[in-house]
Amino acid sequence: MRYCATTSLREYPTTIFFTMKVYKFGGASVKDAAGVRNLQKIVSTQDSLFLIVSAMGKTTNALERVFSLFVEEKKDESLLELEQIHHYHTEIIQELWGKTSSLEDVEKLFSELEMFIRYTPGRITSMEACYDYIVSFGELISTKIISNYLLLCKIENKWIDMREVFVTSCTHKDANVLLDRSEARLLNEVSQNGYKVFVGQGFIGRATDRSVTTLGREGSDYSAACVANITNAESLTVWKDVDGILSADPKLFPNAIKIEHINYTDAIELAYSGAQIIHPKTIKPLQNKLIPLFVKPFSNPQGNGTEISSKAETVSTPIIILKKKQVLLTLKSKDLSFILEEKFQLIFDILAKYNIKTNLVHNTAVMLALCIEENWHLDELLLELQNESFEIECKRNVELLTIRHYNEEMYHHHATKACCLLRQTTTDTVRVVREC
Ligand code: ASP
Ligand code: MG
Repeated sequence: MRYCATTSLREYPTTIFFTMKVYKFGGASVKDAAGVRNLQKIVSTQDSLFLIVSAMGKTTNALERVFSLFVEEKKDESLLELEQIHHYHTEIIQELWGKTSSLEDVEKLFSELEMFIRYTPGRITSMEACYDYIVSFGELISTKIISNYLLLCKIENKWIDMREVFVTSCTHKDANVLLDRSEARLLNEVSQNGYKVFVGQGFIGRATDRSVTTLGREGSDYSAACVANITNAESLTVWKDVDGILSADPKLFPNAIKIEHINYTDAIELAYSGAQIIHPKTIKPLQNKLIPLFVKPFSNPQGNGTEISSKAETVSTPIIILKKKQVLLTLKSKDLSFILEEKFQLIFDILAKYNIKTNLVHNTAVMLALCIEENWHLDELLLELQNESFEIECKRNVELLTIRHYNEEMYHHHATKACCLLRQTTTDTVRVVREC
């Protein structure tokens, strides 16, 4: 039965017997009180829903600043930044509940974080684990506000602590949800007490060593996809501040058009190339259970948006994606020995050790060029590669442009300019690493 999720662990209820949809609301859609009211309106049209919500507005960026100041041992500045985040949320709460209101749950979360910053030494053993602990508060706070606001509007719902539901890998800042270990926990939460609406945080979980993890920036989409997978949801809808998936970023390419239908493979390739619309890890959990994904405009809930499913034909419209903050690494052997299999293995093992993502690989007999993500451990990586006797060139702050289904005109316009440092062309796709 399609909407009946089961699990084999005996101590937990193993089945849910109602149809559920999963809705994900990103930070932009809940950036202010009007956004929260709009969410409530959209939610009120449905009976059984699992909501996954991101941190409000630009809270995660602000919490990243709290973290950076904390590790630089600038505690006062870190606390000041936290105070601004507190103020921002208080304004939203007071607009929704009335002047001088506050929510006890939210106050508790702010004081927990404040205590941590005040009384923990800035010299920490794992930067990544500390980052995850601090930034996870954004989603905890937003979901407390939203769950309470829905209650105020007589929408019964259950707030779920996703740290206790998602068991993840220990790769801080980029953890993966272990679906088989999370399944029973989630089904247990949704099958209790007759609730039909659930509110959970995107982006966060807990590793097997019990530390809090985050799933990668913009990772709430992925959280929502994992919930949909485990509960065998009817569909996942990601509510956005755009009309759907566009063929390019309209701020950069004004001729962008909306794509109505797209299949999982095209969607995963787009996301991987850097299309901001959906987190790359979102597609697999959905495809594995053939759950359709809708990307819909938050400001126009009746709009069609884009449907991502197994049914859609391959898109033939040219699609342009620009990925910024990249690094171009060129490795050459000093003695003309080949850079082939074992060397590849060595290099990728070092990249994996620092959890550095590779977005493009290009090789010749004695050279390997890699376009990788900016990372805190880049200097350590370079040092380690140098110790392996590679001659290395490293160009930071470059961008990676991908054009799928390119035509002649686009090719000449975008891929042949003097700023191009590396170009990789197949019959269907051209990718260019270029200076900004
Ligand atoms: N709040 C997190 C971020 O801004 C996760 C998300 O929005 O999906 O990256
Ligand atoms: Mg966000």
